Amino acid sequence: MAWRPFGWLTSRFSHDIGIDLGTANTLVAVRGRGIVIDEPSVVAIDRTNRSVLAIGAEAKTMVGRTPAHIVAVRPLRDGVISDFEVTERMLHYFIHAAHTRSGLGLRGPRVMVGLPSGATEVEKRAVFDATRNAGAREVHLIEEPMAAAIGAGLPTFDARGSIIVDVGGGTTEVAVCAMGGIVVSTSIRVAGDEIDQAIMTYARQVHNMQIGEATAEQIKLEGASAFPLERERTVNFRGRDLTSSLPKTIEVSTVELRDAIAPAVAAVVDAVRKTLEITPAELVSDMMTQGVALAGGGALLPGLDRRISQETRFPAYVAESPLTCVVRGCTEALTALEALGRVGSQTAPARRR
Ligand code: ADP
Ligand code: MG
Repeated sequence: MAWRPFGWLTSRFSHDIGIDLGTANTLVAVRGRGIVIDEPSVVAIDRTNRSVLAIGAEAKTMVGRTPAHIVAVRPLRDGVISDFEVTERMLHYFIHAAHTRSGLGLRGPRVMVGLPSGATEVEKRAVFDATRNAGAREVHLIEEPMAAAIGAGLPTFDARGSIIVDVGGGTTEVAVCAMGGIVVSTSIRVAGDEIDQAIMTYARQVHNMQIGEATAEQIKLEGASAFPLERERTVNFRGRDLTSSLPKTIEVSTVELRDAIAPAVAAVVDAVRKTLEITPAELVSDMMTQGVALAGGGALLPGLDRRISQETRFPAYVAESPLTCVVRGCTEALTALEALGRVGSQTAPARRR
């Protein structure tokens, strides 16, 4: 082990935790140790007694495979908290797991949680309380697109404007940031999940075939795209024939797959275009040179960057490690708080009474 003359200092800092509470994935990073949790935001529940059976990756494998009384819930699916109790238990579990896995001391961590920008005051309060109850000494909340922009390395504290597009599972968030704040933003409930749904609908309507959600996502990862590919190919669809109920496998070309998901992709592109349209003119010129940064898992859809460039006439690029931008932005924001003299300690939303 390295000799660290300022060990007390680093150990103090290591109590800083960033949490990306995503619609599809929850990530937890500990300052000085990196990402310690990266798991699906899924909770498996026994409906008969509402007990939690599994959380995270284990719960995700249960989706669509469990007996009827066991349900796999994604409490943040649409970017809003559909089930406070389940969200709380999930957060609690992940914070504890992060604590144990990174071998942190007993002192409660300082936590920055990234929330979808559409979160209501009640939802913010719920997340705040849940994080507090999980043992956090200090809790701060940040809007996800802001965290994504920081994590993507955009000059968010500059007077120059920058634009981030975060395509997640349930929501796509577009935000223009400048001077440490969000100037304009758009949030739509069309993202990765909607693309999966489009693939399921296509299989049903065009090939009279039923495929599961997990299969649809797998097909997307294998062959979906937003812009013509250099080499188009075919992808296998494995499911069940709707008429005979027998297993069936078909081959679908990537061209056809692209057509199937076109409406969802168009909605994402439209959200970017509309946000650019309402952006103050002075900021637009900065953004023309810097370009549109893409974050979130959906940013990895091949050709999405080219498609956005083509339709908005702004250069677009995929940020480095797009799936981890938010969580890295959260921990960085804690550092920024320090630099600002802890002004952020009032980030607790007003208590509703
Ligand atoms: P959230 O922040 O909402 O939790 P993420 O940023 O973790 O969402 O992104 C999850 C979404 O990204 C899922 O819909 C997943 O299918 C999609 N995704 C992940 N990798 C890829 C990829 N290579 N191509 C297309 N979509 C992807
Ligand atoms: Mg996200």
